[in-house]
Amino acid sequence: NGHSPNAWEGSRVMIIGSMGFIGGFIAEASLECGHPTYLLIRPELASLSKASTIKSLQDRGATTIYGSIKDQDLMEKVIREHKIEIVISAVGGASIADQVKLVNAIKAAGTVKRFLPSEFGHDIDRADPVEPGLAMYKEKRQVRRYIEEAGIPYTYICCNSIAAWPYHDNTHPADVPPPLDRFQIYGDGTVKAYFVAGSDIGKFTIKSIDDNRTLNKTVHFRPPSNLLSTNELASLWEEKLGYKLPRVTITEDDLLAAAREMRIPQSIVAAITHDIFINSCQINYSMDQPNDVEVCSLYPELPFRTVDECFNDFAVKMNSNPKLVNKPANKNGTMMPNPKPEALFI
Ligand code: NDP
Repeated sequence: NGHSPNAWEGSRVMIIGSMGFIGGFIAEASLECGHPTYLLIRPELASLSKASTIKSLQDRGATTIYGSIKDQDLMEKVIREHKIEIVISAVGGASIADQVKLVNAIKAAGTVKRFLPSEFGHDIDRADPVEPGLAMYKEKRQVRRYIEEAGIPYTYICCNSIAAWPYHDNTHPADVPPPLDRFQIYGDGTVKAYFVAGSDIGKFTIKSIDDNRTLNKTVHFRPPSNLLSTNELASLWEEKLGYKLPRVTITEDDLLAAAREMRIPQSIVAAITHDIFINSCQINYSMDQPNDVEVCSLYPELPFRTVDECFNDFAVKMNSNPKLVNKPANKNGTMMPNPKPEALFI
């Protein structure tokens, strides 16, 4: 990885799901920190669209390994051969239960000092969403219990929401800019949630992997500056847009109806959106358990990117996309001129 023999070498990290949404941020952060980084990639799906991503990660020093966590023997061999010390799984919702085989492989290989299972959301032992969100949480809970029973050292990352507009039917809202036509406000729009930049999810996850204070702990991401309601998020985006947008209320019943449709994954997102913005699941508990740690108190010297900065990124991205520039807010005349001269576009 281009380090001299005397330089800090970092722990040997294997990342599963680096071609996915959350895993991508983690792979970037691991390479950035100079960890010897091994990426497990499913071969049958290593399509052309992924080829350039794989190449750029390889160019930055990543070692690619082809296989699936479903292949327990292969996983054991890979972990042992490469003396993997840290395994971070960011497999998607459909593959949560398959991590049991990965835990078996980690246990058999015996080199792993820390396992981070695919969590990256809420504290699934505390939160209690409606179905089908609950089914995914039950699988994540089973994986936690399996890890604990196997005696594998672990860290659970509860990073809360991604810094983006919280669309209730989109698993990866950071891939989509905030609305240009109307805001859908959940309930009365006052319930707050933590909106964390993807790059910070990666950065602080990697900070935690060889920190003794996070050993067998649940790491909660609660940066005070990133705690906003949907009303506040909407106002912030209006500042960037330079005009106001209509606000439409999505009621508790609307979210529950979307969850009951049982469209996967949209209904899972609707159930979790209900839990966040109606049940206040991110803020309705205090971190009073012995295994709770909060990331800002661990790394007080490291700032989090603000939602304001993240929304600036969206605005800049939209300005550079000619299809989106000058798009009218809506056709009903509710678009209002921006009184602020620093508005980023329109
Ligand atoms: P994605 O679906 O975007 O990516 C999952 C990745 O895992 C893909 O790269 C996929 O490979 C890989 N993968 C799946 N199964 C296997 C397997 N058997 N062997 C090897 N690799 C496998 O996942 P997300 O990023 O959406 O989700 C990751 C975690 O983050 C989940 O726990 C999810 O609940 C959580 N999450 C949290 C969010 C938040 O706002 N806090 C938002 C989104 C997710 P391939 O590319 O080949 O398909």
